[in-house]
Amino acid sequence: MRHDATQLGRRLDRSRGAADTVPKSSPPNLGAVTVSLSVVSPAPRVGTETHCPYCALQCGMTLVERDEEWQVAPRNFPTNQGGLCRKGWTAAELLNSPERLTTPLIRRGPDAALAPASWAEAIDFVASSIRTLAQSYGPDAMAVFGGGGLTNEKAYMLGKFARLVLRTKNIDYNGRFCMASAAAASQRVFGIDRGLPFPLTDIPGADVVLMVGANPAETMPPLMQYFEAQRSRGGKLIVADPRRTPTAASADFHLQLTPGSDAALANGLLFIAARDKLIDEAYIAERTRGFELAKAAIASYWPDRVERITGVPAGTLQAAARLLGNAETAMIFTARGAEQQSHGVDNVMAFANLALALGLPGEKHSGFASFTGQGNGQGGREHGQKADQLPGYRKLSSAADRAHVAAVWGVEPDDLPGPGLPTMELFDTLGVRGGVRGLWVVGANPVVSAPRATALDEKLARLDLLVVSDAFLSETASVADVVFPTAQWAEEEGTMTNLEGRVLYRRAARPPPEAVLSDLEVMKRLAVALGRGQFVSDSPREVFDELRRASAGGKADYAGITYERIQRDQGVFWPCTSEAEADTPRLFGQRFSTADGRARFYAVQYRPPAEEPDDEFPFYLTTGRVTAHYQSGNQTRRVSSLAAAEPTAFVEIHPAMARDLGIEEGELVEVVTRRGRASCRARVTGTIRLDTLFMPFHFAGSGRANILTNDAVDPVSKIPEFKIAAARVERIAGR
Ligand code: SF4
Repeated sequence: MRHDATQLGRRLDRSRGAADTVPKSSPPNLGAVTVSLSVVSPAPRVGTETHCPYCALQCGMTLVERDEEWQVAPRNFPTNQGGLCRKGWTAAELLNSPERLTTPLIRRGPDAALAPASWAEAIDFVASSIRTLAQSYGPDAMAVFGGGGLTNEKAYMLGKFARLVLRTKNIDYNGRFCMASAAAASQRVFGIDRGLPFPLTDIPGADVVLMVGANPAETMPPLMQYFEAQRSRGGKLIVADPRRTPTAASADFHLQLTPGSDAALANGLLFIAARDKLIDEAYIAERTRGFELAKAAIASYWPDRVERITGVPAGTLQAAARLLGNAETAMIFTARGAEQQSHGVDNVMAFANLALALGLPGEKHSGFASFTGQGNGQGGREHGQKADQLPGYRKLSSAADRAHVAAVWGVEPDDLPGPGLPTMELFDTLGVRGGVRGLWVVGANPVVSAPRATALDEKLARLDLLVVSDAFLSETASVADVVFPTAQWAEEEGTMTNLEGRVLYRRAARPPPEAVLSDLEVMKRLAVALGRGQFVSDSPREVFDELRRASAGGKADYAGITYERIQRDQGVFWPCTSEAEADTPRLFGQRFSTADGRARFYAVQYRPPAEEPDDEFPFYLTTGRVTAHYQSGNQTRRVSSLAAAEPTAFVEIHPAMARDLGIEEGELVEVVTRRGRASCRARVTGTIRLDTLFMPFHFAGSGRANILTNDAVDPVSKIPEFKIAAARVERIAGR
């Protein structure tokens, strides 16, 4: 395997004049960014080995301080091999940002501005408000909304805080917007949810890779080195995406499918594989159940029909299916493109059906996986932030699971509330009679990241109490009643679980500024003020040790993982049942995690998205990420070089459609859906389908893409349909 930047990364460098990945031995070329190895290297001080604050690749990096300025230097960690993308290279700029919050803020009246306050005032204000809400409306009137970037310790403690300190059932988190469909599908099919059930180092051994709705060349550039290594030994890459992204452009086959037609594509590929006798009958018989149901469900997905639904030529479908079916080793990956849909779970299960029929999961250099997006999107969904969940992937609806966790927490099982509401249902109750009256948002920015955003604006305004914990005054914090300033990633220790299920240790490089607390410290102070301080520790190590006990015996078992072991082994893969036992880089070698050890096929039918184009709204609008920004942009929009690279929202439109509408490159236009209007610059490009528009979702204000998105949800995962909305484009100049 190569240990340097990818060829694709270099192509991107040339095309953009800025490095997305760099070889570990070379100084990063960051254009306007001044960080470089030549600056760091003459007499380097001992750095702090840590990980990037952003995405789920959790690239290893070293933080180096010089004259109170912090810089990022490479670190030869097994996953990124020294490579970082431009977000990682510039992450340290935020540590001393003049924009960071350094004191609590309180709004002392509906029309008052947020004003500085002491911690004692802020904690007292929030604690007394929570008490009042509980007395007036009951404990469920207070809700918590967490984040997929929180450490395992914080995610765990937030779930415990909600259930034992607030005694509310209402906690959910922004992973509901991200990984929920992949998680639900994996639980159903394989009996467990770990994004990659194998390490990244297995990828180069795959003869054929199919990626569905994934664009790592832009979203996780260092990840591409594994696919470049796979290609360099003769492997083939197939990418299914409505956009000709840099990832798709580099592929051997680009299946440029109609947005929302993923299940039809998967069923069509399986139809061809079964028809051409490319499926693995022995594997199906020994390791799975339900194939006959799935086979019956795909009977009508002959190539011509699938071409009509997906727009992918029948010949291309057949070539892709045969490539996959004839491969000795193959992997199938899904990501948000297929998952953030009102049929996201079906889409993932349809591709899992294909993988099972080809006999891939659990086999060497083969398998089925989903790319996790947020920094701790994996660990954040394992330890109790989800509405229905207890630590270790235990369920609130299970008596045995409740008894185990209650014993660790020193309470009776009946002291634990039942399952709460998933995010969109929870948000629907904000400020309504019998619903949620107070909300604490921790490490999330739903004003930018939630669908149908203007409706959420109104719901948040109806609350009696909105509290936000953040390092910066995010768009959600700016409308809060109380803002808690919290530490950044380099100012506290903790663990993160990356997209492979590898638990990582994040060191503190320095303490937070005076009057800034960690999220655990805030939880502790609030718990003490509410008279239940005994349930909360503000020591990450103590919390992690408790998490280990609470997760022991669960599906996501961390019992054998310690901070020391993580550092010694450069990460530990869960499940890891004791300190004496090995960890588990690969799942499914002998059995799946279902009760009988067999994976399950599901009968999946293609169903159209909740909203399809019509005369009034003739385009599919899809949304996604750009290289320079991360999630709601609350951090990356404040980094000077990243803001300069992508300063504002834009909409991609095909040249032929732009010509028809009289739209020119760079022109200010409005994108309109049934939910509202957003204004942005037109980016005219032939990489997008004629019938499709694309907007990045990182921007606030009038360019907020989520003003436009549809809040229809998947019936199982409850993920909103971020990827498809019927839309039109209007010229502003022409009015
Ligand atoms: Fe790596 Fe992701 Fe950070 Fe980029 S944003 S450096 S890919 S962890």
